[in-house]
Amino acid sequence: MPRKVPQRMCVACRTMKAKRELIRVVLGQDGTVTMDATGKKPGRGAYVCRSRTCIAQAVRAHRLDKGLKTAVGADVIDQLIEEMEALPEHEPTDTDHK
Ligand SMILES: [Zn+2]
Repeated sequence: MPRKVPQRMCVACRTMKAKRELIRVVLGQDGTVTMDATGKKPGRGAYVCRSRTCIAQAVRAHRLDKGLKTAVGADVIDQLIEEMEALPEHEPTDTDHK
């Protein structure tokens, strides 16, 4: 049996995806919100797809604030936008395969 891949829900599109396809933002025990590149930081996490659409929506609609039940700092938002800008303009889809 293959090991079950842990799934998490994107706060923007509410789709369940494998954790590695998502960006984790974590509320630490000290109350600070940080991006969690490793996925191993302790605390309550909220996830958003590695997709421009979802990151933009999460930022614009304050979905992360709601997911974490706290205000997300401007520096975290800036980091998310940087992540977004590092992504390709168009998401690869199955139809892109030659
Ligand atoms: Zn999403």
